[in-house]
Amino acid sequence: HRNAYEPDCIFCKIAEGSIPSRKVYGDDEIYAFHDISPWAPVHFLMIPKRHVPSMAQVRPEDAGLLGRMLALAPKLALEQGCNPYPEGGFRIVINTGAEGGQEVHHLHLHVIGGARPWLKG
Ligand code: 5GP
Ligand code: ZN
Repeated sequence: HRNAYEPDCIFCKIAEGSIPSRKVYGDDEIYAFHDISPWAPVHFLMIPKRHVPSMAQVRPEDAGLLGRMLALAPKLALEQGCNPYPEGGFRIVINTGAEGGQEVHHLHLHVIGGARPWLKG
């Protein structure tokens, strides 16, 4: 499904506020909150408030929203304690589908930083 709100979706409920979360940012279209099981000192998720299951369902008309999410991420990362570029920085991850490691099927960007023990290779 690709609707305004999916009643069985945990991230729709977080965006709406019926499941509590630790807020990082919110506006009309975007909500950001701390991951409940962080991989690094800074680890928050950015979601569109409307239900898009994954990157696989993104449409051309979503480009503006996705662009705003990406453009906002560096500001939020610094506010949350990521060190400045280039010595610091962060990683943005979008798991997509089962083989992409996606567990929650409401599109989300992981923004991860503050240290790098989670980096592979
Ligand atoms: P995925 O594997 O789908 O890319 O990542 C889902 C992420 O959502 C995981 O990192 C997981 O810790 C996080 N998560 C799952 N349920 C909740 C929740 O109820 N609250 C918060 N804050 N994070 C959650
Ligand atoms: Zn949803």
